[in-house]
Amino acid sequence: MLTSKETIALFDQYVIGNYTRYPVALVRGAGSEVWDAEGKRYIDFFPGWGCGLFGHCPQPIVEAVQKQVAELIHVPNTWYTEQQGTWAKLLSERSFGGKAFFCNSGAEANEAAIKLVRLHSSKERYKILTFQGSFHGRTMGALSATAQPKYHVNPILAGFTYLPYGDLSAVENAVDQETAAIMIEPIQGEGGVRMPPEGFLNELRKICDDQNLLLVFDEVQTGCGRTGHWFGYQYFGVEPDIMTLAKTVAGSLPGGAMLAKKEVAASLRPGMHAATYGGNPISAAAGIATIRMIESEGLLERTERISNLFFTALNKIAQESNVVQEIRGAGMMIGIELALEGAPFVQACMDRGLLINCTQGNVLRLLPAMTIEEHIVNEGLDILADILKKG
Ligand code: PMP
Repeated sequence: MLTSKETIALFDQYVIGNYTRYPVALVRGAGSEVWDAEGKRYIDFFPGWGCGLFGHCPQPIVEAVQKQVAELIHVPNTWYTEQQGTWAKLLSERSFGGKAFFCNSGAEANEAAIKLVRLHSSKERYKILTFQGSFHGRTMGALSATAQPKYHVNPILAGFTYLPYGDLSAVENAVDQETAAIMIEPIQGEGGVRMPPEGFLNELRKICDDQNLLLVFDEVQTGCGRTGHWFGYQYFGVEPDIMTLAKTVAGSLPGGAMLAKKEVAASLRPGMHAATYGGNPISAAAGIATIRMIESEGLLERTERISNLFFTALNKIAQESNVVQEIRGAGMMIGIELALEGAPFVQACMDRGLLINCTQGNVLRLLPAMTIEEHIVNEGLDILADILKKG
């Protein structure tokens, strides 16, 4: 096996440098623990950037993938597979009874949603309202929906209007004859784990109903149990017309999905959209196993309990620390806003064997596995407490 240094040398020579990486090669993971090439163990409070709903290599997913890979690896969407049909059924039954289109990532799911909005709406209606601080992906359509100029490569796709997050009158003023949809993350993830103001999503639903607009929820980060509900929209009690999923939807394997209410989904007819690997049998098997595991292990209920452990401990840390300004989030989606830059805190945690993330410069972010053991929660929180108190 290569050392971290040797692996990094390969990257330096052969891999495009579009990511900022820590100088560590990870080689093995189990649940909420992961090991590097030198054998150092880390507690992972951010497994797979939110993909690791069950942490690393959960047994039911491993088994489902192993079984599937020996039976059928891939067939294109010119054929039917039981796995894709079942995956769609399970997602539909746990959400708003819509139909699914499968793809490979969050950006692709949002591309599909943007296209469906345009196909479903009349020609004059093409504008989509999105919100400052949002993140919808890096492909040209998804980054055009993303209302953070730092991600833009100009010229971006036309037809997006960016509004201040949570500002209802801005939304009311922006809707015009050309508006087709409002697109929003129920909780902004990359934007800093920002919760919508009380009642905001309900008001958006009302505006969409009154003005005949589509409401699109990007649930790439909030979906599939992250908030302790199947989907973030259920946490807030506001139903979208279109919902996009990725990260957790295929149990950490590459996979994305767009679910749309049946009457909206009908606007996507044969030949109008495609993804060669979309809904492939392996991702589908992993997606099915994900839903079954959440149910058979009672993980939605467990998430509420483990989430309380995190929030109780973090609120206590906040009281004892000079640097913590606010703790926020829902379920296993947690933001810790600091009065200082977060990067040195992330590094200090890593040095002590704890992996966390920082977004928007000063918001530490945790997306722990819903299966994380309590003793690991406590071990990780002790490290975090130590570091934040010293800050
Ligand atoms: N939407 C949201 C809300 C996300 O958090 C992300 C990824 N962080 C994306 C879309 C893009 O997902 P992907 O990287 O799989 O394209």
